[in-house]
Amino acid sequence: MDKKRILITGAAGFLGSHLCDRFIKEGMYVIGMDNLITGSLNNIEHLRSNVDFEFRHHDVTTFVDIPGTLDYVLHFASPASPIDYLKIPIQTLKVGAIGTHNLLGLSKDKNARILVASTSEVYGDPLVHPQNEEYYGNVSPVGPRGVYDEAKRFMESITMAYHRFHDLDTRIARIFNTYGPRMRLNDGRVIPAFIGQALRGEDLTVFGDGSQTRSFCYVDDQVEGIYRLLMGDYHYPVNIGNPTEISIKDFAEEIVKLTGSHQKIVYKPLPKDDPQQRRPDISKAKEILQWEPKVDREIGMQRTYEYFKALPTDELYKKDH
Ligand code: NAD
Ligand code: UDP
Repeated sequence: MDKKRILITGAAGFLGSHLCDRFIKEGMYVIGMDNLITGSLNNIEHLRSNVDFEFRHHDVTTFVDIPGTLDYVLHFASPASPIDYLKIPIQTLKVGAIGTHNLLGLSKDKNARILVASTSEVYGDPLVHPQNEEYYGNVSPVGPRGVYDEAKRFMESITMAYHRFHDLDTRIARIFNTYGPRMRLNDGRVIPAFIGQALRGEDLTVFGDGSQTRSFCYVDDQVEGIYRLLMGDYHYPVNIGNPTEISIKDFAEEIVKLTGSHQKIVYKPLPKDDPQQRRPDISKAKEILQWEPKVDREIGMQRTYEYFKALPTDELYKKDH
């Protein structure tokens, strides 16, 4: 029987590369697409000679053309860390809006099922806690994070429009903070930031007073949730994340312990519109996908630390992508 064919955008990024691995393992032929703006070919180097994988260097904000059939599309291309999307705000808006439009058009043309990577950022700085899918969010469209949040809100909106108007087979994953091997050490997100600082022997920088919370999901759990959502039949957004919540200050202390470093924690100004609290309500994912995270933070962080520790030393001091 012919293999199912899946297009994964953002394939050279953190989540995209793990998704390529998973779908190859599921017996599919994977077409990975990326323009390498925040990702790296190192993340998919191990797939280079795999006969079930091909890589296309392409910017999805320009017309996307794939020869042959497609069964599934996963749209994961987008800058995802606050420093990335603040550095490239227009590209961030374009990949969420025009990129999503192109991939919906392609999916319609190929009669493929599409899953788009939305985010907990659609809830902004939430006034409801924990966040469930019915909450509309608290986002400033004109604030610095608006370029990401509003692009993702538009992405959800146009995806539902294609579902309703064209009867396209769509899925929307609202992904909460996910971590693990292949994150970029200098992408500014809190886990690579703290581990990088510990490995370089620098103080750990907590923004604000560190009372803000996040809930961190290990990548294997996230990939399983995405897989089940794609294979299920539910069209509305589903939160995929780990509900175990921790303050950033407590998390910094955990990292000092994990890395055995003796670094101090120092406090820096809180970036504008930084959400004060974030925890997914995953009742829907539990009920619809029979999914919940399995990897405790202690185990996930140990694996992530091992990955960063094994990187060549010059990676530790790289300033830019
Ligand atoms: P990442 O930066 O590691 O990966 C994103 C990839 O998209 C990169 O390889 C980048 O080069 C590529 N890309 C960006 N713009 C592109 C374009 N115009 N054309 C082609 N490729 C392009 O980030 P990630 O953490 O792997 O995030 C992947 C997706 O998941 C993003 O859509 C992000 O918004 C979403 N998400 C991630 C998290 C998380 O915690 N990791 C949370 C919520 C949502
Ligand atoms: N943060 C921090 N120090 C850093 C990087 C991030 O205290 O060096 C904080 C940031 O202000 C936020 C939280 O850690 O409150 C998570 O930040 P991240 O960029 O990982 O993701 P976000 O959830 O804000 O998109």
